[in-house]
Amino acid sequence: MKMMLKFSRVTVPTLREKPVDCEVVGHELMLRAGLMRPVSSGIYMMLPLGLSALLKVENIVREEMNKTGAIELELPSLHPSESWQASGRWFEYGPEMMRLTDRHGRDFCLGPTAEELITHYVGKAAPSYRDLPVNLYQIKTKFRDEPRPRFGLLRAREFRMKDAYSFHRGTEELDETYERMYQAYLEIARRCSLEVKVVEASTGLIGGDVSHEFMVLSDAGEDTVSLCEKCGYGANAELERHRPTLRFGGEEEEEIEEVHTPGLTSIDDVSEFMGVPARMVLKCVLYVVGGDALAVFIPGYREVSTKKLAAVLKTDSFHPMREDEFPFFPSLTPGFVGPVGLRDTKVIFDEEVVGARNIICGANKEDYHLKGVEEKRDFRAEPAMNVASSVEGDECPSCDGALTISRGIEIGHIFKLGLKYSKPLGVEFTDRDGSLMPVVMGTYGMGTTRILQTVVEQHHDDRGIRWPKAVAPIPVELIVLNSENNEQIETAENLSRELEKKEIEVLIDDRSLSPGIKFNDADLVGLPIQVVIGNKISRGMLDLKLRYTSIKRDVEIRNAGGAVENALKEAR
Ligand SMILES: [Zn+2]
Repeated sequence: MKMMLKFSRVTVPTLREKPVDCEVVGHELMLRAGLMRPVSSGIYMMLPLGLSALLKVENIVREEMNKTGAIELELPSLHPSESWQASGRWFEYGPEMMRLTDRHGRDFCLGPTAEELITHYVGKAAPSYRDLPVNLYQIKTKFRDEPRPRFGLLRAREFRMKDAYSFHRGTEELDETYERMYQAYLEIARRCSLEVKVVEASTGLIGGDVSHEFMVLSDAGEDTVSLCEKCGYGANAELERHRPTLRFGGEEEEEIEEVHTPGLTSIDDVSEFMGVPARMVLKCVLYVVGGDALAVFIPGYREVSTKKLAAVLKTDSFHPMREDEFPFFPSLTPGFVGPVGLRDTKVIFDEEVVGARNIICGANKEDYHLKGVEEKRDFRAEPAMNVASSVEGDECPSCDGALTISRGIEIGHIFKLGLKYSKPLGVEFTDRDGSLMPVVMGTYGMGTTRILQTVVEQHHDDRGIRWPKAVAPIPVELIVLNSENNEQIETAENLSRELEKKEIEVLIDDRSLSPGIKFNDADLVGLPIQVVIGNKISRGMLDLKLRYTSIKRDVEIRNAGGAVENALKEAR
C-alpha cells in the first residue's frame, strides 16, 4: 500500500525559525522540514518524511549491494564482549564504545561495527574453498559514544549504516570484490544525486592495508582532502603525500648569525621583523609524548598534521605542550626553540626541511633567533618524515599538477583487511588439497543516515530542501488553498486517488492556514512536484510547480494525473 500522508503538527512538524545548535544547513533543514527530532545529544527520532527518505536511500544501497552479489543478513545490536576481546578492540575502542552489563554480570557493547561477530560466525562455519568467496552485509543501527555529537546525522551517537564483510581464498579474489564494491559505491552516490571524490584513506581502528573513502565535497564536512584535478589523485589529509618542494628557505648560502628578537615568538612576528617571507622561517611545535618533550620542526607556512604525527609516533596519546608543563623541560626555551645545538629533546623534521638553506630559526636562547642557518652544515634534519599538512598549490605526488584542499563529508569507506581479523580470530578454510589456509577479508561501510542529511546539505536553496526525486520522501504535494471549500477538497481527493492508482505517493496540505504559510512549508519540505488546488478550479485548472527548477505551469484538472506523471519524469 502506497503512503498517503496528511500535513499536520504531528506528522510534518515544520518550524519557521532556525533551531538552536545547528551549525550546518543540512541539520537545520532536517529539523525545520519536520524530518526528524532530537531525543538526546546525537540521538534522533525519524519522523514519517525522514523515515520515508531514509528507506529510499537504503533501498538504493540494497539494490546496488545485491547487484554485486553481496547477500543480506542481520546481526544483533547487542554484542557479547568475548569476540571483541579476542581481536583486542574491546580495549582499543576506548570510551567511544557504548558498553553495558547484563543481570548476570556479562559484558556487552552496542555494536559500532561488526567485524568480530561476522568473522567469528564465518570461522565457526569452517568453510571449504567451495564456500568462498562470500560477501555478507546488513543495514543496521550502529552506536558510537561520540565525545562531541554535532552536525545532526553527520556525527550522531546512534546512526544507520550498511556494513559488508567479504571472505576470500586469496588476495586476487579480494581485489575483484573490492573493485566491484568500489563501483557500486559510485553508483549509489550517483543515484542519490551526490557527487563524490574517491580518496586514499588511513585504515585507523578498522585496520588493514588499503582503504578508500567516498567524499562529498562540502564545507559542512569534517574531513580535509587533497585533490589533483590533473590526474585525479585524491587523499585524506591524514594520508596525503604532497611532494616536498624546494621552496622552503632561501637561495644563497649565508653566514649563520644571531639576531636579537625580543618577545617575538610567532612566525608572523619573526618574518615581519626580519623582513622575510614565512617560507624562510622554521616553525617549532612542542609536544609531550609519554612524559617526554618532542620538538616538531616544519616550514613556517605549514601546520603539523596531528594524524600524520600519530601515524609516525604509532600512538595518539600526545598533546601540544602546555605552558604549565614548560618548567619540566628546562633545556627548552619555548618560543625560541631551534634545531642548532638543541639537547635532551626528541625531534622530528618535516621532509621539506631537508636541504633548506638560509633559514631563520630559534636560537635556544630567550629573545634570540638565528639567521642564515643551513641544514647539514648547522644541523641535520633527522629523522625527516611527512608530518606537515599540505597547503593549496602543493605538488601532486603522482603528477606535476597542483593540489587543492577541500572539505568533505565521508559517506563511505572501504578496506582491504587482508588477514587482520582472520589471523587473531583463527578463521581458516579448507583448501582443495585439504590444507587449512587463513581467510582473506575486506570490509565496506556506508552511512545511510549520513547520506540522507548529505543529500539535504547538497540540494537546497534559501527557501528549503530541493529533493532529487530518487530519494524524495514523497514525490508530490497537493496544496488545498481553502480547506473550507468542498470543491477544492473533493478535487484533491480525486487527484490523490488517481495518483494512488499510478503508484505515486502524495502529501496533502489541507490545514486551515493561510496560503502563504502553506506555500512556504511546501518549499521548505521540498517535495519534487507541488500541485496547487485553488480558485482556478472553477475554470477547470490547477497550478503545478517543479520545486527544483521553480518551473510553473497551468494544467487542466481532467489531465492532472498525466501532467503530474510527466512532470515527475522531467524532475531531476
Ligand atoms: Zn596529479
